[in-house]
Amino acid sequence: MRQLIAGNWKMNGLLAQLDSIAAPLTKAHHAADVLICTPATLLHPARALLAESSVLLGAQDCHAKASGAHTGDLSAAMLHDAGARFVILGHSERRADHGETDAIVLAKVQAARAAGLTPIVCVGESEAQRLADMQDKVVGAQLRHSLPAGFDGVIAYEPIWAIGTGRTPTEQDVAAMHAHIRATLVAHLGAMGQGLRILYGGSVKPSNAKALLALPEVGGALVGGASLVAEDFLAVVRGAAG
Ligand code: PEP
Repeated sequence: MRQLIAGNWKMNGLLAQLDSIAAPLTKAHHAADVLICTPATLLHPARALLAESSVLLGAQDCHAKASGAHTGDLSAAMLHDAGARFVILGHSERRADHGETDAIVLAKVQAARAAGLTPIVCVGESEAQRLADMQDKVVGAQLRHSLPAGFDGVIAYEPIWAIGTGRTPTEQDVAAMHAHIRATLVAHLGAMGQGLRILYGGSVKPSNAKALLALPEVGGALVGGASLVAEDFLAVVRGAAG
């Protein structure tokens, strides 16, 4: 399967940035699958911009319910209607800022699938958990508690301490965690767990992308800061194996 390079724009981007960040992506041929997860406000215009290109479009969260009295929230069907085909779920910033638990992430995964969105489920340990050598236990529990039977989406391993800090785990640590995630997916999901893409996320940039993307079981990258600069994101995409 081709690698997937996904940009997480977080709470960044006005209409003008579609021209400066997204438009250049549509002009190149990519060896990997390329996805941008824009703020929900940009999904509709981004759909038009990306329509004739291979660049995929996604959102950054959805509500677990299909509709109802949830002021300010967006359902998975609304995001699909606006053009999203993927949705990031359980990002550590949402777990921290909005108290999202594995049970909430599980409900959101089910809502996303029901609306035809492919979930990208984020897992990862804090720095204190890594220092206590608890990362395998923490990530294993997150996977078991947030993935329903039959899950056919994408996993993103994002050590919290590597997000936006410029720090990354060693290549050996990334490879070890991805092997652990693969084994957990197979134990939890059976044969289905064998083929799912496992992205690495956390301070991926042009200078480290090629090495990280060459590691075993790394099926792509989830990219925050570097996805907001077209030439940096394109350089990360060029680091993918295809
Ligand atoms: C992220 O938040 O998903 C992320 C990987 O951010 P950054 O690349 O900026 O570390």
